[in-house]
Amino acid sequence: MIRYSLVCEAGHGFESWFPSSDSYDTQIERGLVTCPVCDTAKVGKALMVPNVARTDRGREPAAPAKGEAPVTMIAEPERQMRAMLRALREHVMANAEHVGARFPEEARRIHYGEAEGRSIYGEATPAEARALVEEGIEVAAIPILPDDRN
Ligand SMILES: [Zn+2]
Repeated sequence: MIRYSLVCEAGHGFESWFPSSDSYDTQIERGLVTCPVCDTAKVGKALMVPNVARTDRGREPAAPAKGEAPVTMIAEPERQMRAMLRALREHVMANAEHVGARFPEEARRIHYGEAEGRSIYGEATPAEARALVEEGIEVAAIPILPDDRN
């Protein structure tokens, strides 16, 4: 069994168990995994990044300026949240080094000065992410949504 940190398109974080990573992929593709808060099937693995505030500099505005958008029925806060998360994820992927499952180890080495200070992103289990936070290493989860992976 593997436990994953998941995030939905509205930014709700939750955890879920899967028999294997293949099983995770299958269930996500079939829309069988839903957010416990808003019930959307647009959920994905949380991508872990250290200290989002610090990697946030120079981010391009994600959406057109207010006033340009026509009136719509789409829930504006959710749309903005989604655009913000997407912009943040794109920024991280363009500017940070992907360290995959070594994320907890690399985040620690950078935090303790054992590795070159740089922006990284990767995967961490919920327990690993909690352990990092308890050590004073701030991490944040941003979603990789199924429709972003094409
Ligand atoms: Zn949700």
